[in-house]
Amino acid sequence: MTTTLEFFGHVIGGVEVPSLDGARFDTVNPWTRQAWAEVALGSRADAEAAVTAARQAFDEGPWPRMGYGERQRLLHRLAAAMEDNADELAAADSRDMGKPLNQCHHDVARAAMNFRFFADHAKMATAEALPMDTGHHAYTRFEAAGVVVAIAPWNFPLMLESWKVAPALAWGNTVVLKPAEDTPTSATIMARLALEAGLPPGVLNVVHGYGADSVGAALTEDPRVDRITFTGETGTGKIISRAASANLTPVSLELGGKNCNIVFADAELDNAVHWSIQSIFRNAGQICLSGSRLFVERPILDAFLEKFVASAEAMRIGDPLNTETDFGPLASEEHFHKVKGYIDTVEQWGGRILSGGVGEGWQVKPTVLVDMPLDSPHVTEEIFGPVVIIHPFDTEDEVIALANESDYGLDAQVFTENLHTAHRVSARLQVGTVWVNCFFIRDLRAPFGGVGSSGVGREGGNFSREFFTEPKAVVMQI
Ligand code: NAD
Repeated sequence: MTTTLEFFGHVIGGVEVPSLDGARFDTVNPWTRQAWAEVALGSRADAEAAVTAARQAFDEGPWPRMGYGERQRLLHRLAAAMEDNADELAAADSRDMGKPLNQCHHDVARAAMNFRFFADHAKMATAEALPMDTGHHAYTRFEAAGVVVAIAPWNFPLMLESWKVAPALAWGNTVVLKPAEDTPTSATIMARLALEAGLPPGVLNVVHGYGADSVGAALTEDPRVDRITFTGETGTGKIISRAASANLTPVSLELGGKNCNIVFADAELDNAVHWSIQSIFRNAGQICLSGSRLFVERPILDAFLEKFVASAEAMRIGDPLNTETDFGPLASEEHFHKVKGYIDTVEQWGGRILSGGVGEGWQVKPTVLVDMPLDSPHVTEEIFGPVVIIHPFDTEDEVIALANESDYGLDAQVFTENLHTAHRVSARLQVGTVWVNCFFIRDLRAPFGGVGSSGVGREGGNFSREFFTEPKAVVMQI
């Protein structure tokens, strides 16, 4: 029996199109391990066509010229369309990467919120006016930068794409979005909805395909591009940074993490367990922000472990499309083998698997490791799966040294009931975000990004404005 799979094309210049050479690839549902849709497989020529469309829409089209209010209205319409089509968008992400459907719905809601927030932020933003001693006045204009290339990873497909696309559009740029090859479909749906909402042709283009030697590389090497915003692996970020430097194209890089989660003995235990579980096992651990190095103050280690392991084992593993499921398979066969590789070598390194391990299909269960040497790859490398290393500590200085030992510096969680400890430790951690007694709570005005190998630049609120515009000083004699 032959079945016809649904097809998702590129969206270029306001039209959904196949690849110029007709090539396609399958997108696979990691739970069934079967192809569920076909997607246009782009080449350099498709990438160039998308940049041409975005360039033309920026240079000649209405979008950069229509004003903040009209763009705000259209972006709100897009947000509403995404909410109206939340079932389709959430199911697309769930099928593409195996994320539980209820978490995909959360991501769709946050994606719509991103469009609303950045549309409002651009409209409401004020620019500094600087009265000068000389009798002159200086003020700042935030001009749209031009064509923005946004390259996204597969772990929060729609949500991370909107985090880039929304501010870029709100500030008057046009965009070429390249979703990850493992999670292509929600981007095409979003671009279809953008056209329905009334965004002019060429304002939001989507081109599908691979990174190296393909669509991704072509986009980052194109001299007609004015900004590149990338989220993905640190190694890829370095390649993109090199490509961008040939044209002096500014880049924003949101990269990997090996984040620490510190639980002090005075923490509210149930709250610390709840958020520690979320931070490492939500999305099957495939979160750049995950608290994969968990340091617990020794007096409460046994009590914490008992509750933590019980909560990990209570997670409902199953079909991601079932709304009862809170833990799905890993996103692809390749990624499963990468994570399994770490689990296979735990004993070789002298560590112990306290709970979890490899499951059915492409599944790794919530896995708790103890006794891991601090120089083992399990502790130093980003596993990007549901694997947590738990390690006791005795003093604040010791745990801060352990936390800052990493090359990465994306975020950290601190659990304590002591206000002084919370502030002191937050100040000493070398990371982009510290969550105290919580995790994953975001204010879109706050800076988001990492230090060291976790990235370059910050996005969010005014930080996105700085990146997606060319701030211009105007100095007037009064
Ligand atoms: P990846 O780097 O393999 O791929 C990300 C994107 O880059 C994909 O769209 C891919 O096709 C493209 N790409 C690959 N090579 C390229 C090249 N040479 N030129 C241009 N584009 C190229 O990352 P991934 O596996 O999709 O995502 C997981 C990684 O992303 C993890 O390291 C995770 O920590 C990180 N991440 C970071 C954040 C953050 O905010 N800091 C958020 C989510 C994920």
